[in-house]
Amino acid sequence: MSTAPRRRYVVRVAASKKTPARVAALPPEGAAEVATRLAAAIPEPRCELDHRDPWTLLIATILSAQSTDRTVNTVTPLLFQKFPTPAALAAAPAAEVEAVVHRTGFFRNKAKAIQGASLAIHQRHGGEVPRTMAELVQLPGVARKTANVVLGVAFGLAEGVVVDTHVMRTAQRLGLSAATSAEKIEQDLCARFARPQWIEIGHRLLLLGRYVCGAKDPRCDDCPLFELCGSRVGEALGTWRDRAAHLADRIAAAAAPPGAGPASPPA
Ligand code: SF4
Repeated sequence: MSTAPRRRYVVRVAASKKTPARVAALPPEGAAEVATRLAAAIPEPRCELDHRDPWTLLIATILSAQSTDRTVNTVTPLLFQKFPTPAALAAAPAAEVEAVVHRTGFFRNKAKAIQGASLAIHQRHGGEVPRTMAELVQLPGVARKTANVVLGVAFGLAEGVVVDTHVMRTAQRLGLSAATSAEKIEQDLCARFARPQWIEIGHRLLLLGRYVCGAKDPRCDDCPLFELCGSRVGEALGTWRDRAAHLADRIAAAAAPPGAGPASPPA
């Protein structure tokens, strides 16, 4: 057996068994360096859920729970073609909506949530997605994560930090938070970063988790945050700027249209 696969196995087991309590808290200067390196790797973080306006983003985000953005992007074109407005989606037969969103999982609950949210937007908000956290979390199927995505991406409003499963994991592994609930992790991230950073730090940590710091197979050796991370294992390849460039390549390749090939050679 070669040494490379063995090292990858060690990385996977060691990092996946770290618990937040065993990771040293990152000092303020470390958190600042995390922000600097992530900004270098991901200068313009982009929401990977296809959408055309705040309502379609809201619906896509609800559908993304326990699913992948890629899967959601395969069902939303037909969904919004058949039901192009909040009123149309709210009035649609439940079975038709369920059939369209079936592939995203938990389809009955999700169909109920997106129809309920659309009905509330139509009846209570004149067909427009509200712009406050208080109003958004009153909509069926909408909690703080979805509300933060809509406020940040659609309206540019920094009311909090988006905390999904990727952000929870990376924040814990990096020592940015020792909490285990999304709510507390969001509070910790809001305390560690200035409000103007809130929208982008959430999306950058999410993309780090999606493309480098996976749940079962973190690629520590190719992570731009290696030197800063209390959960790192193995040895880093090259400089952090090299690794940041690899991350940028992976994100660009994922965003390329099907058949376009990678934007640059994969890391
Ligand atoms: S070094 Fe990077 S990939 Fe490894 S656990 Fe830390 S953040 Fe995740």
